[in-house]
Amino acid sequence: MLNIQDSHYITELCKGAELMSRYGWSERNAGNISVLLPEAEFETPREILRKFQLPFSPPELLGRVILVTGTGKYFRNIAQNPAENLGVLRVGKGELELLWGHENGGAPTSEISSHLRSHAARLRADPLHSVVCHTHPTALIAMSAVHDLSEREFSRTLWSSAGECLMFLPEGLGVLPWLPCGCDEIGLATAEKMKNYRLVIWANHGIFAAGKSLDDALGLIEIAEKAADIYLKIANFPDKRLITAAQLRQLAETCKITVKEGWLND
Ligand SMILES: [Zn+2]
Repeated sequence: MLNIQDSHYITELCKGAELMSRYGWSERNAGNISVLLPEAEFETPREILRKFQLPFSPPELLGRVILVTGTGKYFRNIAQNPAENLGVLRVGKGELELLWGHENGGAPTSEISSHLRSHAARLRADPLHSVVCHTHPTALIAMSAVHDLSEREFSRTLWSSAGECLMFLPEGLGVLPWLPCGCDEIGLATAEKMKNYRLVIWANHGIFAAGKSLDDALGLIEIAEKAADIYLKIANFPDKRLITAAQLRQLAETCKITVKEGWLND
């Protein structure tokens, strides 16, 4: 049995956060990550160091232990001091019990409610789900400011810009209009979208991603961000050749991918 602080989950989170910072997606203190930990792997500390109020605890997460980034922390600094920048908490009824980390007065991310609601939604869709992360990928945010925000149209443009986006995100992307962050409205709306999507765009703000691991969730953002970047680079050329609906159907057939009815029509 490992001590929580020696776990590979902390090493992976530090690596992922640094990568998001290097990509330019997590300026200043932007971004937050949470990981559902498989308790069987750890010696869970018995002592509760502090408690944090929670407006809502999804019943399916009661008793689960999560690793989260701290509020106001810079992703680029997490690896230098994980115990100050991260916390391991147990989900209780209306509260979070701190088991490790958030040293020197730290606290969990202000988006914790959105994370917990999203975890609950994804666990219902995928029992292997474990990670939720939020970051600010530049091209996707830029695209959300100029493109039709219907999920079909947004997903179709990304698929038509880079075929791997269809291969790895055949369900497409959920899209929310701009909403104030940190409030319950955006948390509820995101969790609703997470029932069907692993990536949810927050227009003019950023993205929420879910995955079986941080690599999985980050990989999905990388693919969508690459497609958005390609689209923005070619969008204003008069003679652009995007991947056609017929070619997308051919790709779906070759890769044995099921796509929502009508999403690959001309
Ligand atoms: Zn944000």
